[in-house]
Amino acid sequence: MNPVLVVGAGPVGLAAALGLRAHGLDVMLLEADPKGRERPGSRALFVHGETLGLLDGMQPGLAAEITSYGQTWHTKRTLYRGREVYSRTFPPSPRPPGLPAFTSLRQVDTERFLRAACERAGVEFVWDARVTAVRSKRSGVTLTAEDGRTWTGAYAVAADGARSTVRRELGIAMEGTHGRGFHVVVDVADVPGAELPLERVFHYEHPGVGGRSVMRVPFTGGFQVDLQCRDDDAQEEYGTEEAVRRRLPAVVGAGYGERVLWVSTYRFLRKVAASFTDPHRRVLLVGEAAHLFPPFGARGMNSGIADAATAAKAVAAGTAEAVAEFAEVRCAAGLFNSAAAGTALDHLRPRRRTVRGKQRVAAALAPVLPWCGAWLEHAPYGPRHDAPAVAGRKY
Ligand SMILES: Cc1cc2nc3c(=O)[nH]c(=O)nc-3n(C[C@H](O)[C@H](O)[C@H](O)COP(=O)(O)OP(=O)(O)OC[C@H]3O[C@@H](n4cnc5c(N)ncnc54)[C@H](O)[C@@H]3O)c2cc1C
Repeated sequence: MNPVLVVGAGPVGLAAALGLRAHGLDVMLLEADPKGRERPGSRALFVHGETLGLLDGMQPGLAAEITSYGQTWHTKRTLYRGREVYSRTFPPSPRPPGLPAFTSLRQVDTERFLRAACERAGVEFVWDARVTAVRSKRSGVTLTAEDGRTWTGAYAVAADGARSTVRRELGIAMEGTHGRGFHVVVDVADVPGAELPLERVFHYEHPGVGGRSVMRVPFTGGFQVDLQCRDDDAQEEYGTEEAVRRRLPAVVGAGYGERVLWVSTYRFLRKVAASFTDPHRRVLLVGEAAHLFPPFGARGMNSGIADAATAAKAVAAGTAEAVAEFAEVRCAAGLFNSAAAGTALDHLRPRRRTVRGKQRVAAALAPVLPWCGAWLEHAPYGPRHDAPAVAGRKY
């Protein structure tokens, strides 16, 4: 039988390949980059408990491997214009069977664990394989690379990211909106012996950066700083490495200028593919090939891995109905995540004066009404627990 072809060795393609192997299918993973590539930093940190559960289902022990490397913290704080409005330290999660609610590590490290797991599971990697053409028929899929090589598979799982060639070749549109402005995401290494406290801190209207909001999130070996820029901010003023080095002391103190690992700027796209499969039900779109969200609530990679697990199950079932169901369920989840990230965005970058006013009032009342502080704490991440039943999962 022809193998299943997976396009793209990002976290979602790696998870899809692993999930397919767990169902006993032969997998060929085609990746445009060379084997020794360097992946960009300043991306996803959180791997949620639910995602760890999915990965452990694909390869028992993988969740323990990831969590023993990642960081889990128990303190969350929120400040408003320099004043603390919320602080809570939670007891360690009692979830059985020992999975934490989340773990935090750089996406490059998550990918390192996934790639090693794929190698152990017998996934066949083909590097330097940039797919440029896709032909889907009732009986299977043929992919062609830019150098003319071709591969035929029973199915193809497209995990080739935001600019997906597979999606474009199939003529599937992305539908949604993109906002103005950007935010800046910086990975910073700890200063050995002087690590910052292990806590996630969100700061509304930080006085050190002209009233822009800033988040600091720990990961193993350092922390990520996320700065919400205004629509009219210039990239040179905030988004370059030089600008970041200049502004970092006002946010985290001196001594980190030389510790910057990576700077990314990120635009606010909320887009979901019009369809997650082709008319022959032979190609399945997953991850950023199928949806793009602002990262608040850590929905991008986590929902991509949920897509991958669902896609693997549908391919293993081997029927057009199963693939159609995958497409319906994951499209519903994509729309939910897009709306939830939009809710978070309205709060983080308030356009309406009423939202900003509510935040100001909540901050003033937080010392006497703790629920006001709790509202300020939770709102930047968007709703999490109301995913539509059809999605069957949080993400
Ligand atoms: C600043 C930032 C912060 C983020 N924060 C979070 C977060 O906190 N939580 C979260 O869950 N998500 C977060 N995300 C999103 C997360 O990084 C993405 O969701 C994730 O990388 C998507 O994975 P993917 O595998 O779908 O795509 P990618 O990581 O883009 O991987 C696609 C792969 O396909 C390959 N490829 C592309 N085209 C072809 C082709 N034609 N042929 C073969 N191979 C191809 C690429 O080389 C690449 O290896 C963040 C993203 C950014 C940029």
